[in-house]
Amino acid sequence: MHQQLPKEIDPFRLASNGLRLEGTLSLSIMSRLSAAIVDDQGDVEVTLQFDVDQTGTPYMVGNIKTALPLICERCMQTMQYDVDTDLSVGLIRHESQAEDLAEIYEPWLIEGDKPVALSSVVEDELLLAIPIVPKHEHACLPEDLWQSGDEVIGEEEKPESPFAVLAALKKKD
Ligand SMILES: [Zn+2]
Repeated sequence: MHQQLPKEIDPFRLASNGLRLEGTLSLSIMSRLSAAIVDDQGDVEVTLQFDVDQTGTPYMVGNIKTALPLICERCMQTMQYDVDTDLSVGLIRHESQAEDLAEIYEPWLIEGDKPVALSSVVEDELLLAIPIVPKHEHACLPEDLWQSGDEVIGEEEKPESPFAVLAALKKKD
C-alpha cells in the first residue's frame, strides 16, 4: 500500500495537481535530526495531501508519525518518544505572503523553482516535535531520588517575584 516517496518535490506542482504522498522515510537520511536521537534506525510514516483551497492558496496538509529514541533527562536511559503530528501548511513564494495566509496554515516559504527535499520538510517538523527536556511519562526513578532533584527544589524555592518585592516596598512609603 505504501508507495515509494520521491526524494525531492515541487510543492507548488503537487498542489496544483492535487496529489497525495503516502509512505515512509528513514530517519537515517535526516542529518540534523541524528544529533538529537540515540539511533536512526526507525522510519517516519508520512501522509501528505497537496491541493489548492477555495481562495487559491496552495497548501499541504497531512500527518507524520514515528517514535524517536531520545535520552530521558531524569534516568538517562533511552525512551521512545511518540510523534504524531498533524500538519497544515500554506505554500508561499515570498515572505510578505505569510501575513496574508489564513490562520489555519503555517507558512512554508519556498523560494526559487528548485525542488525541495521531502525529508527536510519532515525533519523540520520532527525537530519541532522533540521536547526540550525529554522525560519518561512514568516515574522512571524511585520518587525519593528524583524529588530531591534540581527541578523540584527549583519549584519549591522559587524566589519572590521582583515585582512583588517592589510593590511591598512602595506600600511602606
Ligand atoms: Zn526516565
